Amino acid sequence: MFPLIAEPDRYIACELPFGSDAEALAHWLAVFSAQFQNVAIHAAEVAGGDDEALRKADSARIKLQAFLDRLARQPALARDLTLLDIDAVRDQAFREAGIHDPHLLVKKRENEAALPLLPDLLQAVDQLDMPQRLEFLAGGIFAGNMFDLGVTDTIEMFKRGEFSFESARKHIPPRPWHVDDLDDFIRDWLERGWKKAVVFVDNAGTDIVLGMMPATRELLRAGTDVVLTANSEPSLNDITHAELLELLGEVRFMDPIIADALRTGQLKPVPSGNALPLIDLSKIDGELTRHAADADLLILEGMGRAVETNYNTRFTCDTVKVAMLKEPRVAAFAGGRLFDAVFRYEPADH
Ligand code: MG
Repeated sequence: MFPLIAEPDRYIACELPFGSDAEALAHWLAVFSAQFQNVAIHAAEVAGGDDEALRKADSARIKLQAFLDRLARQPALARDLTLLDIDAVRDQAFREAGIHDPHLLVKKRENEAALPLLPDLLQAVDQLDMPQRLEFLAGGIFAGNMFDLGVTDTIEMFKRGEFSFESARKHIPPRPWHVDDLDDFIRDWLERGWKKAVVFVDNAGTDIVLGMMPATRELLRAGTDVVLTANSEPSLNDITHAELLELLGEVRFMDPIIADALRTGQLKPVPSGNALPLIDLSKIDGELTRHAADADLLILEGMGRAVETNYNTRFTCDTVKVAMLKEPRVAAFAGGRLFDAVFRYEPADH
């Protein structure tokens, strides 16, 4: 159990309706059916791209479609399921087909495409004064977080090649955002700051490299210790802990602040124990539990960790939930619309 949950006995990871009503179920079955097809395309590439690879990837997809069809025929089976369960079934099916990480290559390509853009971006950040710098960094998180191969609308944008960081920046809605507590966050940042932050990151590529890395660097510059935590096992295009270590190994040659923080231990990458694009904070890694216990700031980034799960969870420390709403049902759950931006800041004493 994550140690900073305010009421651990009452913790519910995922409150989004899935199989509890017919309309929600029909929606999610269609979403997952489309998602599985897309995962199978990436899985076939990872498995070698030949006929045998296509057969392997498609065998997983067919099994998964049969599972969805069964839920459609017998909705009672879906009543107690959540999005977390369907994600787990998907990943298991591809692993059973011998494909451990269907998005391995696409994540690698996206990281490689984003990395060369980082030095100029950091230079642009450094030319800004406070508080404009923090507003720019928050916008960067939203732009980076558009890269998501779990939901239909952004998958289509990805296929059309509309995923440059700069074009994503142009898609960020103007402030005030749908949920916009940024001014309160900036006030607390400038007035008191934090000793130690636990930062849950989301996707590989622009999200981690051009969104979360510059934001993390700013916390480090302010003197905050940062525990940077990514999934232990692959799921969709989320960056894994192993991939994060590799990435930091490259970023340290691009930026002295991150290099110094890695050397001194001010920046500490720690695996979360999670293997899903959403996160059940009652099932995290013991190592993270130890490192998180004395944190006074928690950042949950991305729709899966900050909205589809944990949106209503209260924590004992100051908390930021930051995400782009890239799925209509999830957007509605957060009271918003597709491609609304959420920057929810919940100080511990409120
Ligand atoms: Mg993700």
